[in-house]
This record gives sequence, structure tokens and C-alpha cells, in this order.
Amino acid sequence: MIPKNKCIIAGPCSAESREQVVSTAKSLAKIDSSIIYRAGIWKPRTSPGSFEGIGHKGLSWLKEVKETTGLKTATEVATPKHIEACLENDIDVLWIGARTTVNPFAIQELAEALRGTNKEILIKNPIHLDIKLWVGAFERMERCSVKNTKAIHRGFSDGSSGIYRNSPHWEQLKTFNNLIPEKDIICDPSHISGNALLVPSIAEKASKLNLNGLMIETHHDPSNALSDAKQQIKPEQLELLLNYLYEIPSELKMLRSEIDQTDEHLIELLARRMDISKKIAEVKHSNKLEIHQPNRWKSLQQRNKDIANNNQLDPAFIHTLYEIIHEASISTQKSI
Ligand code: PEP
Ligand code: MN
Repeated sequence: MIPKNKCIIAGPCSAESREQVVSTAKSLAKIDSSIIYRAGIWKPRTSPGSFEGIGHKGLSWLKEVKETTGLKTATEVATPKHIEACLENDIDVLWIGARTTVNPFAIQELAEALRGTNKEILIKNPIHLDIKLWVGAFERMERCSVKNTKAIHRGFSDGSSGIYRNSPHWEQLKTFNNLIPEKDIICDPSHISGNALLVPSIAEKASKLNLNGLMIETHHDPSNALSDAKQQIKPEQLELLLNYLYEIPSELKMLRSEIDQTDEHLIELLARRMDISKKIAEVKHSNKLEIHQPNRWKSLQQRNKDIANNNQLDPAFIHTLYEIIHEASISTQKSI
């Protein structure tokens, strides 16, 4: 459903428990296997005392998600130690948060810790509207040969009391593009809106602007989330949103479901064929007959050619297909 040129990152604001991390991931994997699974392990909170992330042990939950669902994983890094821990736990994508991008010293340290890596690094815009500071973070990465980078637009905190938690300032993305052409930009509607109800409209706007993807905070039980509870959506809401944004024509959906059912029958028929083949092997064995009977095989292929022609199928295609089926059948017979 997700187009190949779009990067969709989804998952909870924070990893809270193994159960929460794994269950949200399972629901997301069912939506689309190309989703990158995000979960914050270390949370840079505005005030101390709020949930500051589960820490190191959450990395093993992300590892489990990767092993059991096949989803790629992503988390936020703010120190070289975080990077080291992520590399040890095979995290696929690392992102640098808005509160880190503001600090050139921190960015420099991260760039040096990442030196030469080919890992995908996402850099969120700094909290306040300073495009050059954002661009500077990419330049520091470049200088350390960290080239596989993308930008995340998560809105800017400008003290306005508008409807958004962080104002999007879409027009500033042009300035960003002019300063670093061809850098992919992913939109983070969750941190822009701060409100689950506004996430779809921001996602739609980003899609209309042809941005390169979305990072959307998704939680199996948003109202009980330990951070950013108001802005997280449920996996089923994400599915509806992605369906809406990247809609598949209903005719295509129907045809796909028809083809899936046909494949199921085909495979069941192949299984039946293999069972018969096994019975044949036993009969051949008790009658001391060779497994491979060239004349029988020749006449079978001739018969198939006629059936293919009668069904407007290319006989060469059926011939090749039957060579594979025959080979599997012979090797099963030999094993009996
Ligand atoms: C986050 O993605 O959970 C996060 C803390 O984002 P930001 O750095 O954009 O505030
Ligand atoms: Mn968050």
C-alpha cells in the first residue's frame, strides 16, 4: 500500500514495556512490512520527573520486534553512548531530536561518533525556526562522511498560541531545499499537531507537498501512553490514514483478493498432487519400477501442451512450470 518512494515511520513516542512495544509492532507489521518501527528509548523531556524513557533495556525489545516482525527499527540518539548502544543492538535507523539539533557541540560529538557510517540518520529540525542551524547539522555529518541522512520536519516552537503544538512553516522547507538540494524531508505530523485529531490533516498536507514520508506516533493504547498521550494514534487509525493517502483503487483490491484465493487453490492442488506422487512412489517401489519413467514424462508434457493450448496459455510456460513440479515430485519420490 505504501509507495516505494515514501518512508513511513510509526510506533510509540516511547518504549514503555515489552508488551506495549511488541503488541504495537505486530499491529503495524500487519499494515505494511515496509513501515519503520520507531520507539524512543531515551526521552529528552522538558521537565525532570516526567517519564524519561525506559533506557537501555528497551533496545532488546526493539531487537525482538525486528526478529519477530521483520520491521526495521528506529530510535532517538542524543549522545555517543546512545549510538554505541544502538549499534550493539542492531537498530536500523537513528534519529536526532529537535532538542539536540539546536546544539552544535552535541551534533559535532554525534557526527564524530558516527564517522563513516552508512546507517540511515534522520535529523529533526531544531526546536526554533533556524533553518541554517538545521542545515549546519547536515554539514557536520557530511564532514564526518555521514552521508545517508534525511530531514524530519517536526514544526517549530514559536511561542504562538495557534492550534498546533509546533507551527509547521511549510514555506521554510523551500529555504531548506535551496540550501541542501535533494535532501529527503519526512514530515512528523504528531509533533507538529500535538493532537491526534489534527494528525491526518497535517499528513495530507505533507503528502500534497510531495514530502518524502511521514513519522507518526502510534500506540496500542494512546490514552495511557507515558509520553505524548494526546498526539498518538492507534494502529487501526494509522491504517485508515495510509489507505486514504495512498489509496488503492477498489477494483485492484478486489482483483488482488481474487488472485490470492486462486493462489490458495493452486497451492492446495499442488499439495494434493504431491500426495498422489508419494503414493505412486510406494507402488513403484513394491513393483520394483524405476522412479523416473521417460516415456510417461514425455506423454505427460505432450498432454500438458494440449491443455495449455486449449486454455490460451503459452505451452512453453507450462512446460517450464512442469519441469519444476516434476523435479520436486521426483526428489520427493526418491526420498520415500
Ligand atoms: C520524539 O520523536 O518523540 C521527539 C522527542 O521528537 P522531537 O525531537 O521532535 O520533539
Ligand atoms: Mn513524542
